[in-house]
Amino acid sequence: MIFKSSEMDLNIKNALGYLTFKALDDIPFIRHGFSTRMGGVSSGEFTSLNMSFGRGDPDENVTENYKRLCEAVGVSFESLTASSQDHNTFVRKVTKADRGVGIYRPKDMMSVDGLITNEPGVTLVTYFADCTPLMFIDKRTHAIGSSHAGWRGTVGCIGEKTVNKMKEEFGTDPCDLIVTIGPAIGKCCYEVDDPVASKVEALGLDTSKLLFPKGGGKYMLDLLETNKQIIMRAGVPEENIIKSDVCTRCNHDLIWSHRATGGKRGGMCGVLSIEN
Ligand SMILES: [Zn+2]
Repeated sequence: MIFKSSEMDLNIKNALGYLTFKALDDIPFIRHGFSTRMGGVSSGEFTSLNMSFGRGDPDENVTENYKRLCEAVGVSFESLTASSQDHNTFVRKVTKADRGVGIYRPKDMMSVDGLITNEPGVTLVTYFADCTPLMFIDKRTHAIGSSHAGWRGTVGCIGEKTVNKMKEEFGTDPCDLIVTIGPAIGKCCYEVDDPVASKVEALGLDTSKLLFPKGGGKYMLDLLETNKQIIMRAGVPEENIIKSDVCTRCNHDLIWSHRATGGKRGGMCGVLSIEN
């Protein structure tokens, strides 16, 4: 396995691998990471670090995987609070009262594809397998957000909705936000058809940077750049937005990819928290 990236690091602690953005290294008040497939206890098609409950992997394995990931990244297992994603664009503010939801307490809401908080000790957990992770860090108010943008969430502008929810709840000025996009399936591997392409065209962005026609009604879509353009339109300066250069499908031996596995797979998660 060869991992190459100029934007992300592969960190290995106690044989568990997780990715971080180099650009977030020098932000002292956060912890963040993205799980890989490496260093967990799951077996079969979930080998070995599966972070998705409800796909057939016993819950106790997934729970143990979370404990190991938390140990490696340096967040507490008790602080985890998970989304309950279904390709919608609702963003939920969470607090310490929501700790454990979706991990060691039942999910209490559906259709939550984005989480925000301004409380230290609450770790936002979001799930992916090719879809695009979006992380938001407000350098001024120290609030954070984490969202899931597949193509539906992307064209539904969940990036902009997360920025707006942070404005509304925490008084975030988009100029103070640092935003990371990915790791996700890259334009090298993400083929879509006309119905998806027409929804991207309807966003009113410069589609020459987003959609690359292949003929026969097929296109390669740059989901990361599409999210970047949407987030810039929401007021975040271009220089504050960092895109991953790690394609999940090209790196499917290291990272869960829905397309590479035909859906027989575990899931990756992103974790983001505010530390005192
Ligand atoms: Zn690729």
